[in-house]
Amino acid sequence: MERIIYVQFDQLNVAAGAMKLANKATDHIVLVESQRMLADRKWHKQRLLFLLSSARHFAKQLTDSGWDVSYLKSATTIDGLVEMKQKHPECEVLCATPNSFRLKESLADFGVTFVENDFFLTSTDTFTRWASAQKTFTMENFYRAQRRRLAILMDGNEPVGGSWNYDAENRLPPPKVHDWGQPVYFNFDDIDEQVISELPANAWGEIDGKTWGTSRAEALTQMSHFFTNHFKEFGPFEDSMPGESWSAHHSLISPYLNNGMLLPSEVVAAALERYAHGDIPISSCEGFIRQIIGWREYINGMYWYLGQDYRANNQLQANRKLLPLFHEPDKTEMNCVRSVISDVKERGWTHHIPRLMVLSNLALVTGVSPQEFLDWMREVFIDAADWVMVPNVIGMATHADGGVLMTKPYAAGGAYISKMGQFCKACKYDPKKRTGDDACPYTTLYWDFLDRHSETFATNHRMFQQMGGLRRLSNLTEVKERAEFVLQGLNNGQI
Ligand code: SF4
Repeated sequence: MERIIYVQFDQLNVAAGAMKLANKATDHIVLVESQRMLADRKWHKQRLLFLLSSARHFAKQLTDSGWDVSYLKSATTIDGLVEMKQKHPECEVLCATPNSFRLKESLADFGVTFVENDFFLTSTDTFTRWASAQKTFTMENFYRAQRRRLAILMDGNEPVGGSWNYDAENRLPPPKVHDWGQPVYFNFDDIDEQVISELPANAWGEIDGKTWGTSRAEALTQMSHFFTNHFKEFGPFEDSMPGESWSAHHSLISPYLNNGMLLPSEVVAAALERYAHGDIPISSCEGFIRQIIGWREYINGMYWYLGQDYRANNQLQANRKLLPLFHEPDKTEMNCVRSVISDVKERGWTHHIPRLMVLSNLALVTGVSPQEFLDWMREVFIDAADWVMVPNVIGMATHADGGVLMTKPYAAGGAYISKMGQFCKACKYDPKKRTGDDACPYTTLYWDFLDRHSETFATNHRMFQQMGGLRRLSNLTEVKERAEFVLQGLNNGQI
């Protein structure tokens, strides 16, 4: 045996990372299930099932195709590697550069040799070159540079269709009547059943059917289902929150991209190939491509660029404990919140608008600690990863970095949720009201949030309009009294 190839649970692909360099005749493959990782948080059951079962399927796929594989259950990842090293002291341990600071540090300390992490389209060096030349880290600028660099949806030096971005066409609210189609569901196999039987007792959430595939074949089925059935209408309705469909026209492939079962290059190639048929509007194709080569790469790049300490930011001094409703959605009468958190409990997923404008907005305007909210987001979302959640939560969701990533906070009252979702009609609160017993908590807390941070936002030109609105508010004292009542009620499950 020549080398030990260590495959991490978010790098499950034979065509990338260390596997791409491995030699079936001489190398030994190792995967390690860290028992500490399983027990140290209140993970969503489906998140654990997805991660563990995907890794076990991958190990089996390798074994079946003739690789020499060890799948270890060890106290920690490093303990597993120590065990391998003791058996084969002469072997070098090789893996692709990890996707988190913590793992990178501990593997480097152990003496693992890193090879290129090509689970992203942008190397850390390429991103650093871009970021170092910026005054502000505007994602749109990065995205345009990516389009040019990767020559995707380009017509010479100009964007295909004449515009870089079709967001203006992609903000349709859910229509009264619309066929949202059906998502794909899968069947549990023996490996899935075995993982379910081993889940820790403190895990959260439900497993009622198999929403998330756990093998490369199922990941490909999901991708193909999207391109056949949902791609066309993805763009216009990507921000919609319909009451009758949890998935709308979203692709549902982020978990597979984030555990390596799908590679961004093959997803982009499949999107462009489908677009070439001629029946997909540019607004859908461009919107989708932006998620893959823009947002995803930008967030990963910023995670590394901003460094280890970025996650500790709390510039708005938000110190409230995580609200009980985040684990117990029945504890609130806010219909949007109850519905979105129930969705998360049911399947570990909801799309970017409920994440941002319902969940994160609530954490922001109530002043929940960004670090507590970050922990929760990492524990409950099927596609969560450190590199995804740290910039998204600290920068975008809670404005805890003081505007490094986003120049203004994503705070909103009930009007946005009312326009883009179908929750308010069945809610006991009224999105238009900011005071009174039936005032929408978002609407009340939005003004209270602006007032609490009026000094901070006074010099932010992007908040000029909002702060003007606050100054013109006739009943701020009443709003603040109601806000205090709402905050207390949210703490003890009475709102
Ligand atoms: Fe949510 Fe407010 Fe609408 Fe109720 S009224 S569903 S709390 S936005």
